[in-house]
Amino acid sequence: MNHERSGELYDRALSVMPGGVNSSVRAAIEPFPPFAERGEAGHLIDADGNRYVDWVMGLGPLLLGHDTPEPVQAEIQRHASAGPMYGMPTEIEVEHAEFVARHVPSVEMIRFVNSGTEATVSATRLARGYTGRNKIVVMQGSYHGANDSTLVEGDVEERGPSSAGVPAEFAEHTIPVPFNDPEAVTEVFAEHGDDIAAVMVEPILANKGIVHPVDGYHETLRDLCDDYGSLLIWDEVITGFRVGGLGCAQSKFGIEPDVTTFGKIIGGGFPVGAIGGKSEIIGQFSPSGDVFQAGTFSGHPVTMAAGLETLRFAAENDVYDHVNGLGEKLRTGLTEILRERAPEYTVVGTDSLFKVIFTRDGPEDVSDTCSGGCRQNEDCARFEYCPKTGADVGAAETDRWRRLFWTEMKEQGVFLSQNQFESQFVSYGHTEEDVEKTLDAYREAL
Ligand code: PLP
Repeated sequence: MNHERSGELYDRALSVMPGGVNSSVRAAIEPFPPFAERGEAGHLIDADGNRYVDWVMGLGPLLLGHDTPEPVQAEIQRHASAGPMYGMPTEIEVEHAEFVARHVPSVEMIRFVNSGTEATVSATRLARGYTGRNKIVVMQGSYHGANDSTLVEGDVEERGPSSAGVPAEFAEHTIPVPFNDPEAVTEVFAEHGDDIAAVMVEPILANKGIVHPVDGYHETLRDLCDDYGSLLIWDEVITGFRVGGLGCAQSKFGIEPDVTTFGKIIGGGFPVGAIGGKSEIIGQFSPSGDVFQAGTFSGHPVTMAAGLETLRFAAENDVYDHVNGLGEKLRTGLTEILRERAPEYTVVGTDSLFKVIFTRDGPEDVSDTCSGGCRQNEDCARFEYCPKTGADVGAAETDRWRRLFWTEMKEQGVFLSQNQFESQFVSYGHTEEDVEKTLDAYREAL
């Protein structure tokens, strides 16, 4: 494969953009990332004309793939040529909000913003404003965007900002706990409960190699929040309208968070975020409440059209059957390949998410390996070996990921996510052939 043009573009980019990119993870591919030229269905074509089966899918937003179906495309074009934005309310925002409220059980009201980061920043402020408390509990290794309140590392005893530029005082108000550890979070509530404004948690850690919740963990968080008067915030920026279909992960898991943050799919490939929940809570945002929130581009008509038409298309077509079916084929196929070639590794994912984790431990008898799911259960043969926390995934062989991705898979025309931690996404544009090609490439690489 020739990557000459991407190399030239990267050299130019390095002179004018930090690290040559506008978002850190894009530079994770060494010596330089392929520059994208265009997409076609489930494929990406780079600046040198190389074609890949693309499992990055924009890092999640492209539920329908790179080709936008005709009705979605038409609405995007109509709104782009009509203004394209006004700084005034529009009908399409109302329709999108109504759609989300109709499908997501916990959402009565929603505020649209421009990114997942903006959504978690605003949700944090909302929780603090609503409860009059300062502390936020997050999961170690979870990612909620470039949010100063969640860029924290360490544990309850010793913690600090995970980025330069974040005041140490911020970390005092954010308590990281290990995911899937009910005792740890119960202790934190016992000590700080009256100061805790919210727990912010992804239903599945989808930025940490994919870590599934163990049975009962989310129920523990829900109960603790109820007992102490704290808000439960589910960050569904990745899982929203992907895991659990139109009802999102909360309908699949049967948990009703107080506040949900959205992003990615609800913008249909355009910049978006949103904060939804009960009217009593979301209504605390200005101008109806005292928690300031605003944005020039919020509820942008082109984004709203792209997002709403994407969701409508998914509601009216076999989108979730298609993506979840291919997801299952990938996970089952990978499980077979691993059983034969690398039984100690683990397949994780659910619905249209999948990933291989390069753990080094595994059961001796691999005849009953699971192919992913949504709840970790002690009856599963791999229960003991499946990652439970972000740290478990961090301890996996990330170098092996680099070798597999950067050399073996990419050179075979299969584009996996840029590092061990990001999820991989199936879209409506992917086909059975894409799955076959991908499994063949994994077989070869492993
Ligand atoms: N929350 C989660 C769970 C995410 O995965 C991300 C981004 O990947 C964000 C928040 C931040 O979203 P954005 O990159 O749109 O700011």
